[in-house]
Amino acid sequence: MPYKCKEKALANKRERYVRDEFPSLRRLKQHLKTSFKMQYQEFNALLELQAGKCALCRKDEPGPNKRLSVDHCWKTGKVRGLLCSICNTSLRQVDAVPGWTANALFYVGQD
Ligand SMILES: [Zn+2]
Repeated sequence: MPYKCKEKALANKRERYVRDEFPSLRRLKQHLKTSFKMQYQEFNALLELQAGKCALCRKDEPGPNKRLSVDHCWKTGKVRGLLCSICNTSLRQVDAVPGWTANALFYVGQD
């Protein structure tokens, strides 16, 4: 009896998997909706507008299992664009620490 239940559970899982698209895509759609109030179609439109490249460094979209991150203003919540993980992380500093950009430029200019 438990064996048949397990078979049925697996069949149901496979059915859900096909019906609901790939789980990672489903998670992405949910993430866009809850974090940015953004539809998947809007994400794709932005990606197309940016020709699949980071809005800052213009590097191509990361590999097949990675994607560009949604960058948004922490104060207003407005989506600004899609960034690679390096640019997105760097930009957080610009938003979080006043004067960070000037300090970084000064720091890099020192030798
Ligand atoms: Zn970038």
